[in-house]
Amino acid sequence: MAKQAKTRRTCKQGHTYYKSSDCPVCPVCEQQRQIEEDFLIAIAAPARRALENQGITSLDKLATFREKEILNLHGMGPGSIPKLKQKLQEKGLAFKA
Ligand SMILES: [Zn+2]
Repeated sequence: MAKQAKTRRTCKQGHTYYKSSDCPVCPVCEQQRQIEEDFLIAIAAPARRALENQGITSLDKLATFREKEILNLHGMGPGSIPKLKQKLQEKGLAFKA
């Protein structure tokens, strides 16, 4: 069994990483995808539906709204806002000012 050397790669988003396998998955993109999926899991179901009804299924999209607009959505509770803020922060984003 030949041992594969790690090769330096750059993904479509411009992240540089090292992988020894043929797996093309970039670990940086993978982690960001995980954060994207987590943000809807982190909040209560009615709040999640409220976001999905507005087509907000990503943090990038969420960041185009004001905090007040999100809070006014039917089903959105004030308890979900700090969680959403935290998830935005994890990705280096924030609610629209
Ligand atoms: Zn990447």
